[in-house]
Amino acid sequence: MSFTKLGLSKPLLQAIQEQGYTEPTPIQKQAIPIILSKKDVLAGAQTGTGKTAGFTLPLLELLGEHAQSKGKHPVRALILTPTRELATQVHESVLTYGKHLPYKSTVVFGGVGINPQIGNFRRGVDIVVATPGRLLDHIGRKTVNLSKVEFLILDEADRMLDMGFINDIKKILALLPKNRQNLLFSATFSDDIKKLADSLLNKPALIEVARRNTASELVEQLVHPVDKDKKRALLSKLIKKGDWKQVLVFTRTKHGANKLSEQLAKDGITSAAIHGNKSQGARTKALANFKAGSIRVLVATDIAARGIDIDQLPHVINFELPNVSEDYVHRIGRTGRAGSEGVAISLVCVDELQYLKDIEKLIKRKIPQERIEGFEPDPTIKPEPIKKKSNSRNRPRNKKPDARPTTSRSSVSRSSRSR
Ligand code: AMP
Repeated sequence: MSFTKLGLSKPLLQAIQEQGYTEPTPIQKQAIPIILSKKDVLAGAQTGTGKTAGFTLPLLELLGEHAQSKGKHPVRALILTPTRELATQVHESVLTYGKHLPYKSTVVFGGVGINPQIGNFRRGVDIVVATPGRLLDHIGRKTVNLSKVEFLILDEADRMLDMGFINDIKKILALLPKNRQNLLFSATFSDDIKKLADSLLNKPALIEVARRNTASELVEQLVHPVDKDKKRALLSKLIKKGDWKQVLVFTRTKHGANKLSEQLAKDGITSAAIHGNKSQGARTKALANFKAGSIRVLVATDIAARGIDIDQLPHVINFELPNVSEDYVHRIGRTGRAGSEGVAISLVCVDELQYLKDIEKLIKRKIPQERIEGFEPDPTIKPEPIKKKSNSRNRPRNKKPDARPTTSRSSVSRSSRSR
């Protein structure tokens, strides 16, 4: 099936062709015609499935139905995302697919100056991609008007709830016109997501595509049992022995990411850490260097890594297993994308065996284990409880995250907060 059958017009088909896409992905095949029929949509799709084009293309098509070419453009489409990185990537997609169309768009998120964003709003934009906290900040300053919004898209809604954005989302929803089309994309469907969907969506069409990294045979998953204090040496050995050139490594904490990155450097392996304490500039630079191949290893925390779009990433390493099982699925979703093969390796110490069990239960399969000679775990070591850090997901729901010391505006701190 080709894109021409989906009901998209020429400027969009041309942009798709220029991207080199020849066939819509399963989510695009399902979502595009339904969204074009103006239905609300509840879609289960992870990053890597082509979901962004799945909602951006029909959105751009529908905006053209009564496009406004003269005068100041009111905001007609609002796309909310949990993180700055995802907001940036979604906005890039809007620019890419909309390049032959006259719409103006902008992206707003915290952690960067607000004045250029205010300037963009003042000049008028049709499409806004935003993280909830910074958008609320603009709303509070009356620098954005959402009274003409026709389309609302919540991207990675599960992650937004995980990050404590539910009240921000509710405040934003209250400002939108009642008559609009709503699309909700989520990788997982917790009770909270179902509740949000019930309150937001009007007789939604349900779309679900296979969770490609659990169902897919493309991602080979492997566990190396190893003691905690030997993980770093094993990681360096694996990278060097396999001559791996582009490795994404996950740690549970920001501190752990920094420490590991420094230790790898000592082993002669170029690396950088990305997490919520790094400035936007540092994160963008690290990602660019990683994509360009000038650093071999990117060490990331879960939230910082969300939405990172790197195609055909061959190796994802869980230096530490996540305490939230769904994060495992998100993590390994970084590999084996766009039809390429990938390997997801987890270094698991005795303290993490319960996490491993929880993950295997979630993905409904046992992950093969392989002991590496010289790194076999010491059977006399007893498991110790893993210290829970005070991050968003361990925080009771509805409790506000800490404000950043640099600002008294809690909404700013929330929009820019990530691990
Ligand atoms: P997403 O799930 O939206 O993050 O997209 C994952 C990746 O798939 C992005 O790099 C897109 O550029 C790419 N992509 C989206 N649609 C297609 C398609 N129809 N054919 C090939 N690649 C695609």
